[in-house]
Amino acid sequence: MSIFNGIEFKNSFGELPGELYTKQSWSSFEKTQLVAFNESLARELGFDPEIDPHEMIKVFNGEISVLDSEPLAMAYAGHQFGSWVPELGDGRGILFGQIKTASGLRDLHIKGAGKTPYSRFADGRAVLRSTIREYLCGEAMHGLNVPSSRSLIMYGGNEPVFRETTETAAMMVRVARTHIRFGNFEYLKHNGKSQYLEDLLNHVIDEYYSELSDEKDKYAKFFDNTVKATAQLIAHWQAIGFSHGVMNTDNMSILGETFDYGPFGFLENYNPEYICNHSDHEGRYAFNNQPSIGHWNCQALAAALEGLVPEKKLMESLGKYGTYFYDHLADLYRAKLGLKNKDAQDLKLVEGLLNWLKEAGLDYTNFFRNLHQIHEPNQSIFADAEGEEWLDSFMKRFNQEKISTKESRVMMLKNNPKYILRNYLAHEAIKKAEEGDFSEVEKLHKILSEPFDDHPGMESYAIASPDWGKNLEISCSS
Ligand code: AMP
Ligand code: MG
Repeated sequence: MSIFNGIEFKNSFGELPGELYTKQSWSSFEKTQLVAFNESLARELGFDPEIDPHEMIKVFNGEISVLDSEPLAMAYAGHQFGSWVPELGDGRGILFGQIKTASGLRDLHIKGAGKTPYSRFADGRAVLRSTIREYLCGEAMHGLNVPSSRSLIMYGGNEPVFRETTETAAMMVRVARTHIRFGNFEYLKHNGKSQYLEDLLNHVIDEYYSELSDEKDKYAKFFDNTVKATAQLIAHWQAIGFSHGVMNTDNMSILGETFDYGPFGFLENYNPEYICNHSDHEGRYAFNNQPSIGHWNCQALAAALEGLVPEKKLMESLGKYGTYFYDHLADLYRAKLGLKNKDAQDLKLVEGLLNWLKEAGLDYTNFFRNLHQIHEPNQSIFADAEGEEWLDSFMKRFNQEKISTKESRVMMLKNNPKYILRNYLAHEAIKKAEEGDFSEVEKLHKILSEPFDDHPGMESYAIASPDWGKNLEISCSS
């Protein structure tokens, strides 16, 4: 019996012109070891709830072939740290296929699957360390309600891989609404393959925007949707304190999902200039640059669509990026502050709070988690005059609301997480996993998938990172 019994399988990207990919199989590990299995995602995707993850590994490690899967490596390009790189592509990943779920299509992509024509001089593998980080962060973001790719299963192999030191290889099945990036369009446009752009656009409309298929300006609407989804995604990153680290156009999903986790980091003490990627010397992808980089990336996508979308339309959508971003940011912060009604001055109020928080140097996540205490008598969250001043303006604003303090507190606890994936927590889980103990990965998975819940007994996972953990250097090596 196949693990895909009852699941509707698709391979539509492989029906596009061959310039967009290379069809090929992947390199199995000789021996595998289960590291983590995402049971709830498996259920959401429609797999048998009783499924044995070891059987699943056999399929994704290529020991059993199923269906008429025609795996492929996608071709794409991108702007990396602002510089044009004409040939990237899946150098260590394979699009296994897509499955239909109640909430739309999901790509299954095997990361760490060996060499492809796009591997250049690299080995096509991923290390256990970075695979665990991606697995956990996808779940953490999903738990935080931030659109994200996720992981279905992760398994180690018996091959050594060489990075700064010798490490263990691993593969992971990444699940995303799409693996089409801004860079797929750029690849065609700037490599003399513009004639295929319409094929790719039509594919995107068919698969993800079928409601637009009869509309005259469907390509312009697709672009506008991508601009909006990108702006809203980045607003969510800012509100939750997430820094992606490598916002190259080849890491930007056209559907606005967080994608391709590398040296990411969550804010510790509130520092808007935080740079999580140790290799980002200029701070191009610093936390407070993310919104403008999102816009820059949309401009790069617009350049790839010139000729197919009227310039006026492209400019109009790019011009709306700021509004899409700030409107969403205001909604998210209102929820964090336990406010329901909209007020034009709300972002000013937030700015005042963040300025104070920066001076106070407090832990971003824990500060917001505790903020509901402002509705308690004699609280001492704002222990200085500037803080008290902010609190006064907040209380004036709150008193215009129709909701009770009780309702407001509930809202705050639902929108300010207790648990985030602090780098040191990932580091500890990885250290154990490298010794063959995956219990910490499992524990983190559980807590992070429900980050707004209390999880009694797990409080030590919610405290601010120890100093050594705040200064961990995370490189691009993966
Ligand atoms: P990333 O930094 O993971 O977004 O990857 C950037 C590009 O380098 C993509 O084209 C990847 O497929 C490729 N790449 C990264 N690591 C490897 C590797 N170990 N082997 C082959 N290609 C890789
Ligand atoms: Mg990438």
